[in-house]
Amino acid sequence: TYIVNDACIACKYTDCVEVCPVDCFYEGENMLVIHPDECIDCGVCEPECPADAIRPDTEPDTEKWVEFNRKYSELW
Ligand code: SF4
Repeated sequence: TYIVNDACIACKYTDCVEVCPVDCFYEGENMLVIHPDECIDCGVCEPECPADAIRPDTEPDTEKWVEFNRKYSELW
């Protein structure tokens, strides 16, 4: 799965949301989040993010962000 980290906060772009084929972006409190169970790992959103806030969970130290993304996407 891919996740959004805090580099997204206050970013005005939503290009990532537009390109996601499964619509798994949701609104968090002040940033977007990805539902980790709905993301199909296609990777098309990553290069769209000007803040470089979308990262694959295969990178180190992304565990807390996976939980954060899950928590906020499940509020909807
Ligand atoms: Fe959507 Fe693909 Fe990005 Fe996952 S990797 S959030 S499925 S665009």
